[in-house]
Amino acid sequence: HVYTKEEVHQLVKDSNVHFLRLMFTDLLGVSKSVDLPISQLDKLLNNKIMFDGSSIDGFVRIEESDMYLYPDMSTWLVFPWGEEHGKVARVICSVHTIDGKPFAGDPRNNLKRIVDKMHKLGFKHFNIGPEPEFFLFKTDENSQPTMEVNDQENYFDMEPLDLGEECRRDIVLTLEKMGFSVEAAHHEVAPGQHEVDFKYADALEAADNIQTFKMVVKAIAKRHGLFATFMPKPLAGVNGSGMHLNMSLFNNDGNTFYDPKGELQLSETAYHFLAGLLKHVRSLTAICNPLVNSYKRLVPGYEAPVYVAWSASNRSPLVRVPGDRGVGTRLELRSVDPAANPYLAIAAVLNAGLDGIENKLTPAPEVSENIYKMTPAERKAKGIVDLPDTLHNALKSLAADDVVKDSLGEHLYKNFYEAKTREYNSYRLDVSSWETKKYMSY
Ligand code: ADP
Ligand code: MG
Ligand code: MG
Ligand code: MG
Ligand code: MG
Repeated sequence: HVYTKEEVHQLVKDSNVHFLRLMFTDLLGVSKSVDLPISQLDKLLNNKIMFDGSSIDGFVRIEESDMYLYPDMSTWLVFPWGEEHGKVARVICSVHTIDGKPFAGDPRNNLKRIVDKMHKLGFKHFNIGPEPEFFLFKTDENSQPTMEVNDQENYFDMEPLDLGEECRRDIVLTLEKMGFSVEAAHHEVAPGQHEVDFKYADALEAADNIQTFKMVVKAIAKRHGLFATFMPKPLAGVNGSGMHLNMSLFNNDGNTFYDPKGELQLSETAYHFLAGLLKHVRSLTAICNPLVNSYKRLVPGYEAPVYVAWSASNRSPLVRVPGDRGVGTRLELRSVDPAANPYLAIAAVLNAGLDGIENKLTPAPEVSENIYKMTPAERKAKGIVDLPDTLHNALKSLAADDVVKDSLGEHLYKNFYEAKTREYNSYRLDVSSWETKKYMSY
């Protein structure tokens, strides 16, 4: 619902809102916010809030730094805390240039561009159900994170209710107060690791939800004396954190991936989308797994995908078709991790799937055997390729794929590629303790 100015003023009165938090996301997926006193509300509603774009990673140079924040009033939400000093309402904004045009370097504007393309192809919603995982670490006396987890629990363990469990419950309750429909929250496989799943939403709202979710998780963890991290692989030797993306395309008649008469009850559209996703998945990886550290999660033995294949019959492939049919018919991409910029990741997977639909691509056959038990020769015979194994290789694939580059647009692609290349080069300059331990005797 997009509120009118009158309605907003009424909302402010009714819920004792004293501050506005304007949120947007930079190139690297970091949430940025500008806080304003409520006296600035009319200025905001009139699209008159300016900020310095040159201070934001990957935005613009100093010479063109004046930018505007236009509020998306459908994202109005009052945080359930801060009663004492008056409440804070968050509004997600899109970034506009000085002449009022949507700024091409704003990842949220870019996602809208790809969603428009989807509308033109006759689809109404790109539904995304994310499954973000994260770790909770203890903090030291200076409130800095340690590498110590506070529990030795395991997947779905029930007892005892420790600090981590209490914190997770508080996260769920807070999210529910903010209107999230939490579908599941549980301990994950690694010590200190948790997952919270919330209901799918249309592309833009889903990305907004992921950003809000991360903010809430970090804030609540802090209140419990813990530190929450969405780093993909914080601890060696145990599972890393993923953010599986469940996805489906809806039109006016409902889920276009479902066809009771289709093979596996999937529609032609679902197969085309799947084929597009698989075709571009190696180059998508740079966007969906954007950190040097992301590639320490994408290794055999820790439940993360390593090979490009799909299956409806086992849980471990890169793309899984979960058992639900009807409205819940979906594809699940299991490589994505929570360090991904959700606006860019969703734009990239959508554009890849649409490429499959537009060009009527057919996917390779399903692989139902355990790929991890195959020899390299067996995989080769079946045409199963690897996901990129480093950020460097993922960037090379990205640079060679026009469809995925187009899902970012020129401005975002150029800045993303440059920032990530710098990041990889800086990693290469480091000599790690693994290397000194291993090689000093040479
Ligand atoms: P898993 O079995 O992989 O652990 P979960 O049950 O934890 O999966 O999460 C499933 C996610 O898929 C939820 O976020 C849910 O809302 C979402 N989902 C359900 N139906 C659809 C759909 N049609 N399109 C996209 N996402 C969906
Ligand atoms: Mg799950
Ligand atoms: Mg699960
Ligand atoms: Mg999980
Ligand atoms: Mg999953």
